[in-house]
Amino acid sequence: MTAEKMSFGADVSRLLDIVAHALYSNRDVFLREFISNASDACDRLRYESIATPSLTGDDNHFRIRILNDTKARTVSIIDNGIGMNRDDLVENLGTIAKSGTAALMEKIGNASGQKDKLSLIGQFGVGFYAGFMVADRITLVSRRAGDDTVWYWESDGKTGFTVREASKKEAKQLMDGRGTAITLSINDDASDYLISDKLLQVIKTYSDHINVPIYLGDGTEDDGKEEPVNKVKALWVRSKDDVTPEQYKEFYNNLSFGIDEPLMTSHWRAEGKIEFSALLFTPMLRPMDLYDPTRKHAVRLYVKRVFITDDCEGLVYPWLRFMRGVIDSEDLPLNISREMLQHNPVIDKIRNNVAKRILNDLDKLAKDDPVAYASFWGQFGAVLKEGLYDAFEHREALLKVARFYSTHKDGAELVSLADYESRMKDGQDRIYYISGENLETLKNSPQIEGFKARGIEVLFFTDTIDDFWLQTVLDYKTKPFQSATKGTIDLDRFGAEDKDSDAKEENPPQSDALEKLKAIIVTTLDEEVSEVRFSARLTDSPVCLVAADHEIDLRMERVLRIHQKYEGNSKRVLEINPGHKLILRLAAIAASETDPARLADAAWLLLDQARIVQGEPVPDPTGFARRMSGFLERSLAA
Ligand code: ADP
Ligand code: MG
Repeated sequence: MTAEKMSFGADVSRLLDIVAHALYSNRDVFLREFISNASDACDRLRYESIATPSLTGDDNHFRIRILNDTKARTVSIIDNGIGMNRDDLVENLGTIAKSGTAALMEKIGNASGQKDKLSLIGQFGVGFYAGFMVADRITLVSRRAGDDTVWYWESDGKTGFTVREASKKEAKQLMDGRGTAITLSINDDASDYLISDKLLQVIKTYSDHINVPIYLGDGTEDDGKEEPVNKVKALWVRSKDDVTPEQYKEFYNNLSFGIDEPLMTSHWRAEGKIEFSALLFTPMLRPMDLYDPTRKHAVRLYVKRVFITDDCEGLVYPWLRFMRGVIDSEDLPLNISREMLQHNPVIDKIRNNVAKRILNDLDKLAKDDPVAYASFWGQFGAVLKEGLYDAFEHREALLKVARFYSTHKDGAELVSLADYESRMKDGQDRIYYISGENLETLKNSPQIEGFKARGIEVLFFTDTIDDFWLQTVLDYKTKPFQSATKGTIDLDRFGAEDKDSDAKEENPPQSDALEKLKAIIVTTLDEEVSEVRFSARLTDSPVCLVAADHEIDLRMERVLRIHQKYEGNSKRVLEINPGHKLILRLAAIAASETDPARLADAAWLLLDQARIVQGEPVPDPTGFARRMSGFLERSLAA
């Protein structure tokens, strides 16, 4: 029997190094991780034995046994689940395959102090390797259901591990000759885990809901009358009244391998055309893999209490992928194959039903606890908004729960579209918005000065996704969305500006002079802009750029250019503020026809200034600097 020595993957070594030093984090979780793996192993064999009954034979009594041996100073976790063959051992316990863990490792790598690293580990379980927080050696014996060979695996959690066939004596540790038996050699400073009461307390705290019975001890003392230490009944089929908040939290933490509390718990049973139970949690914080390009959800599918898969495409919409939990169908056949799950009408119905329910629950949360809802929106709003273009049938409900910052209270508060609607001015038939990356920049955008001055609310769209859903969602309750940075907007029909501005000239504008100035700007900037016009958008700023009616909106162009989806260079409209002091002075010079060269320079400076405010590059920085210096010099000489 030759033993093979192998090294851990680079990721595992780094993880183990951190785990080994995690002296003060919550070490109890190691048991939760092992029990969770054992329970998964039982679930998987239960599922496979539906198609291949010979895998379990007569022995369907799935269970987990925890043994403590104070003399040998070991704790063992034994299950009669699916088991692992040699390749499974090397693959599963020698490398890190999960994208979530990879992301966690990256975060840990970037964390500066040891303390930050520990808190990160505390927040996200590290699975099997958590065992090395309490043990300096872990040995494991396993037989994959249906195989003959029993394998032995051993590691000190430092550099690598050994795999070989197990001896007859070692193989005896398995229950019913299959599954996995893991033995931890407990460190001196973790001796409390050798005590039965401590183990009992940890199991009660973290694993009470586990679907498979857990036994503590070797079962010899009380022959036949042994009782499991957990409740065993699946949490999601219990009635809501029978589940305590602690049990929900514990279940959620097991699913998400985290320690945070769920922000919202949705537990219901659908009856009628389709029947299923669902227990779904909305996390407090973004899961690590939220922005993984696969947009995969993480909800587990059960059929009549039997675990089927945690990878059922289409069970949950991608824009609800932050949810964690379980859906247990009564309609699907137990022996359904993964292929049959694809495009299954039952799955489609469940997906829609779940989306309806969750959106409804979110709407309720928004009403009952606006603070919690604002926190939810900050974490997951951008993901939820993907649904606005993904799922037409839920659009209305999504628009109902969507929140935005706006000019109302100067961006201090999230507002709903219903709020916006209730504040619309008489005769206002559009919902105005401005989109850009940065809230502060948006708040100070020249293009919305005129709106603010007239008390017309403008929404701030700061997520990239906003520019995309706006392509398909054209209105809210028949009121079209209208970009404040695009097209002509007749603001004067909402009355004059309320607010006096310092930049305003006292004397009424000279329209002849202004027209002359405009003509000069048009001639000078002919190549650069598509139009020059007087604007009602502006109060404090002399100029701004907007998109022409039929052109692409300013920010959309930027986004598309970043993604290399757009090569064109659409010309903008330059709007000028006919009430601004600077513009009026220039108009006076234009009227006297004394200094055309200086006016041309001024036209260029105005355009470049508008570009800069917009966060866009100035195409000719040298020309800009030369003109700027010229003006400075003259104004200092005066
Ligand atoms: P996770 O459970 O999140 O996948 P772990 O580090 O806890 O990560 O376990 C890694 C893998 O090892 C599991 O996915 C599983 O394939 C395998 N494994 C661990 N424990 C057992 C067990 N008791 N029986 C069968 N397979 C197991
Ligand atoms: Mg695990």
